[in-house]
Amino acid sequence: MREALFYFQRLREFFEPVLIPLWQRDTYLRKKVEELAFALEKSKKAFLEKGSFAFCAACAKKGIRCCGEGLEWKLSQEEFFLNLYLFHLENKIFSFPKNSDRDCLFLGERGCVLKLTPLFCRNFFCRELSEFLGPANLIFLQNSLEEEVTLTFELCEYLKKQFNL
Ligand code: SF4
Ligand code: SF4
Repeated sequence: MREALFYFQRLREFFEPVLIPLWQRDTYLRKKVEELAFALEKSKKAFLEKGSFAFCAACAKKGIRCCGEGLEWKLSQEEFFLNLYLFHLENKIFSFPKNSDRDCLFLGERGCVLKLTPLFCRNFFCRELSEFLGPANLIFLQNSLEEEVTLTFELCEYLKKQFNL
């Protein structure tokens, strides 16, 4: 089994016994995760409107590998826990996609399976994508990430304190 899968599977084992009880007793956490979900929806809408997702999807169809092996390590353990909570918020269960060892662990058939991707990925605009978007749209999209970045930081710090990470 690849090391990253083993690592993140071990983290997922904390979900039922540790993360769920915290979720049930902690109204602050639930409120903040809901705010994060809302902020993610807003930035997703901005990326859709500006054509960024469609551009990348067309690129992926041409076989260009953007989400390669190793990028899964850009996701911190707290961000992974936030993903589990974001799935839980929608009454869904996170599962690891089946893919090649040459792909990022989180790359599914229809793109990234995470709800909260690492900041590195959210803020990655290759030269072609930057040229397609143009400077004004690029700044607009980067600004659209601000709210989720702030909330993610606050929540990660909060989880670290809760679990002495
Ligand atoms: S960021 Fe660039 S290389 Fe990656 S999928 Fe988008 S267009 Fe392609
Ligand atoms: S966007 Fe998702 S699948 Fe792509 S590299 Fe980042 S975490 Fe991996």
